[in-house]
Amino acid sequence: MSKMCRYCFKHIRDRDELVTASNWFRLRPFHYRCFELLQQDTRPKAGTWNPVNGSVGTGVVIVMAVISIWMFTTGTLGAIGDIIGVLALYPIILRLLSYIIFELPLPKFIENKKDN
Ligand SMILES: [Zn+2]
Repeated sequence: MSKMCRYCFKHIRDRDELVTASNWFRLRPFHYRCFELLQQDTRPKAGTWNPVNGSVGTGVVIVMAVISIWMFTTGTLGAIGDIIGVLALYPIILRLLSYIIFELPLPKFIENKKDN
């Protein structure tokens, strides 16, 4: 899969400038700066993208993991609790996919990035 920003269609060179974001079942890479522009873009085709990597994404994953474990290991809310537990796994899976597909193949940080 190409590490191309879905906003400006240029290559993403390292993890430092990478933001992975999800919109329903889509997971796409963006430049950090392009993601900010995307979030300011109010046109319907821009859609609503939620950051998956970075500190916000990691916080969500921790909260969801706690909810998921709680719902599976206790009887809270019964069958509904089980459904919530399954739904809470979704952002965790997204975070893992983001890491495997987009983050791992990229170098952590490149100094003096050349514009391409
Ligand atoms: Zn970009």
